[in-house]
Parts: sequence; structure tokens; C-alpha cells
Amino acid sequence: MEKLRREVYEANILLPKLSLVNFTWGNVSGIDREKNLFVIKPSGVEYEKLSPENMVVVNLKGEVVEGDLNPSSDTLTHMVLYREFPSIGAIVHVHSPWATAFAQAGVDIEPLGTTHADAFYGAVPVSDALTQEEIESAYEENTGNVIVRTFRERKIDPDAVPAVLVRQHGPFAWSKTPVKAVEIAKTLEIVAEMNYHSLQLTRADVRLPQFLLDKHYFRKHGKNAYYGQKN
Ligand SMILES: [Zn+2]
Repeated sequence: MEKLRREVYEANILLPKLSLVNFTWGNVSGIDREKNLFVIKPSGVEYEKLSPENMVVVNLKGEVVEGDLNPSSDTLTHMVLYREFPSIGAIVHVHSPWATAFAQAGVDIEPLGTTHADAFYGAVPVSDALTQEEIESAYEENTGNVIVRTFRERKIDPDAVPAVLVRQHGPFAWSKTPVKAVEIAKTLEIVAEMNYHSLQLTRADVRLPQFLLDKHYFRKHGKNAYYGQKN
């Protein structure tokens, strides 16, 4: 778990560097799929006071198995996503303002340009609202459940669209590794800001045509990807 602790620590301290968080409002976790344990930021600890050693290790029942500090208050949301989306390796949650503005307005982030298409194969959805009952009992676990339900009902593949806007709350993003998940969260924030401005400039339907979405997404993802350098 040493390597994973360090990766999760490094991804957490990237959040303030990339202006994705204010105060302690954000967290990153990463999972070891062989051990079925994930490492997550401790709750309410300032980013300057984090270290690889004070990261908390949690099992897929949400129980702390290593660490003296309480894990992030969002730990049970991360747990549900790891259980239900078996291909993901790391999760980020932030309240970055542009993405959160879309979450609060209840507006999906539609693909309007190639910046979006390079990372997300389709709209980043706003989740269903949690009911009063879901909020009053097992709130954090139900936040995970509502994300999973939204993806299943709308037939969205979490590998193709690796982020969600939890309604009236903010974004969760995921990827294979903690640093990559932070990159997705930052890309989402940039795309949300661009979309906001585009939508101010015109009332025309400026969504990407499917063939341009396909071109950019599959240039970077899947077996025919050709972006970047061959190893
Ligand atoms: Zn939150």
C-alpha cells in the first residue's frame, strides 16, 4: 500500500495547486483492486498537513483498516463507486465552481467542442436528486447510489464518461490512477467554464456533431487511438 498511499497523497496536494479546491473541500482516493482496499484523504485536514502516512486505508464495507484519523466524510460515496464501477481505480470529489454551477443549475455539460470530446464521450450528466429519505439516512452512501442509478438509467458507460455532477452538490470524477482522476476533474472544470461562456454567446444549438465527437474521443481512447507517442 506504500506506493498507493504516496500516489493518493500526491494527487490530493495537486487539488489546491490546480485551483480545484478552497479550504479542505475536496478529496482523492485510489484503490488496490487485488486487496480490495482503498486509500483516501483524512477528513478536514488542511492540504499542507497531509502526508503519505496520514492517508486512511478503508475496505469496501467502509471500515477503516489502517490510520488514526477519520477518513473523508465522502468515503462511503467513494466505496459505492468502487463497488459498482469495477473498472475505475481512483476518484476525485471537489466543489470546483464552474462544474458546480452546472450541478446547481441541473444542466448537463453537453459536448460543445473538441476539448470536451478528448476526455468525455458524450454529455457529463447531472445526477437525479436525492429524496428527503435518502438524505436523512445513509446520505453519503446514497450519494453514490444516485450516481450509479443515473448512469444505469441513462445507459452511460462510466469508462466513456468518467465524471458526474451530483445535483445541487458538485462533481465526482474518476480514472485509473489518482493523478489521472485529478486531470479529469480539472478538464471537467475547464470544459464547464468554456461551456458557460459559449452558452452566453449564442442560443443556437452548438452541440458537436457525432462524427466530430467520435473523431476526437477515439483519437485518444480505445484500440485505434493514435494521439501522443508510441512507447
Ligand atoms: Zn462535496
